[in-house]
Amino acid sequence: MAIWENFEGLHVPLQPPTPVRPRFSLTSDILSYRKCPRQYRYFGNDGFVPARSTQAFYGQIIHQVLDRCHRLYRGLLGRPLGTLATDEDLAAFFLEVRNALRSHGIRAANDDVADQAEEVVKNFNAIEGPALYPRVHDTEFRLERNREDYVLRGVVDVIARQEDVTRIAGPLDPGTMEIWDYKGSKRIGRATADWKNYEWQMLVYAELYRLRTGTFPARAIVYFMNELEGVSRQKGRPQSATLDVNITDERVSEALVRFDADAHAIMKHRVDGNWPLPSAPPDTDTCNVCDVRYSCPTMNPPGTEPTYRIRNPFERPGRAGRRRAVAPGAIG
Ligand code: SF4
Repeated sequence: MAIWENFEGLHVPLQPPTPVRPRFSLTSDILSYRKCPRQYRYFGNDGFVPARSTQAFYGQIIHQVLDRCHRLYRGLLGRPLGTLATDEDLAAFFLEVRNALRSHGIRAANDDVADQAEEVVKNFNAIEGPALYPRVHDTEFRLERNREDYVLRGVVDVIARQEDVTRIAGPLDPGTMEIWDYKGSKRIGRATADWKNYEWQMLVYAELYRLRTGTFPARAIVYFMNELEGVSRQKGRPQSATLDVNITDERVSEALVRFDADAHAIMKHRVDGNWPLPSAPPDTDTCNVCDVRYSCPTMNPPGTEPTYRIRNPFERPGRAGRRRAVAPGAIG
């Protein structure tokens, strides 16, 4: 008797397919959607690749070079533990990361943008490195949380011990840790939407951290890297470079409600295919580097002279038209 005949007459009922829960990143989904739903539709949802990933370049090069500085200090790059990167190390890291990004089609808008990123990273390394690197516990720390019908994800740039507990022996207390997020932009005004978005982002990170460790972090700090452009290293950190986000249960709950609303809005647009225009136009820098600006009703209202001319796709920006780097939006 053949083996299969033992199973003759056995009926296994079909299992209904388990729906895949969408995953939303705090920065590349929720904050991008919040900045402009139309732009998010093309590049965040449909998967088009921006012709010039100028905003991605600025954020990624800063994050990746700083990550190398942290790893160098931790003795992971073939040098002794506690090695602080020099300006020469930084220049080498910068070239390495720039070439790697270029191979993925991510380029600086022009050399001035790359120079600016290199300058602010060098200044950060000189001003913050000696005090910050010894306190760093982890970098690129991934956090996730199951929501009712989706998964929320975030990556914290740095988890650092608080200064006053650096030398305390014994197990680390998660309640004494700081979470840091690097922004490749200047400090923005308190009344702006981006300010609120940055606060919400850190409050949600604080909640994700609490779910993983059982307690909120001691501090949540946003670091505006472009505040270090042209500063004197001897004078130390400019006051405007950091935003210390106040973490309370109430503020965290409010932030989660807002993020839930945006996640559900994205899910709804995915089903009905109807992506709205932003209720208020994003900042000019965002629209200036947006590939779908030529057909955008926000920037080119019917009956008016188009704000943008169609650019020859092979045109390269001339030196005369160069300007200092844009303040990229939500990064990291
Ligand atoms: S041009 Fe501006 S408003 Fe229009 S889709 Fe692009 S970012 Fe959004």
